[in-house]
Amino acid sequence: MGHSLFLEHHKQVLREATVIAEEMTSDFFKLTHNCWRRARYDIITREGLEQEEISAHALALVAKYQGCHRDRLLKSAFFDFYRICLQDHNILKALDSCPDLSLLPLFLYIITHELVHVVRFSQFQALFEAPEEQKREEETRVHQLTQKILTPLNSRELPRVIRYYEDNWQGGRLYAHL
Ligand SMILES: [Zn+2]
Repeated sequence: MGHSLFLEHHKQVLREATVIAEEMTSDFFKLTHNCWRRARYDIITREGLEQEEISAHALALVAKYQGCHRDRLLKSAFFDFYRICLQDHNILKALDSCPDLSLLPLFLYIITHELVHVVRFSQFQALFEAPEEQKREEETRVHQLTQKILTPLNSRELPRVIRYYEDNWQGGRLYAHL
């Protein structure tokens, strides 16, 4: 029986992957500090997820919410923010069932992929609410961009993660969006 929650060593690798993914993604899109701030997001593991953010199949999903600056009543006081919801149970299951996968490249792929979604949503290059067909096209685009972003790392393990994604994607089972 595998675990269903990340342990400390998983979280350690996750933090490492997040630093690299954020840097690679912001370099690729040439994002300034301000752009990053506008793309407000959090990366959350299973312990911090709400019931409706838990997925049976996906490795991660992006949920979009609207926030409001408390001390302002103007319309500009509203802002969008995103929660990148990591599905510990499904990530651990994938690692168990596929000995080819290792944690760091898998996290790197997942975080970068979800950051690409967030950047594109926040720059209105993709619509969060879109018809199925459009979502599928966007998913393909995000997958291609993610590969491109991570290419400079020259990781020997990354191609396995990419193959895993392509073998298992099946129309959005791995990466869903709320
Ligand atoms: Zn996706």
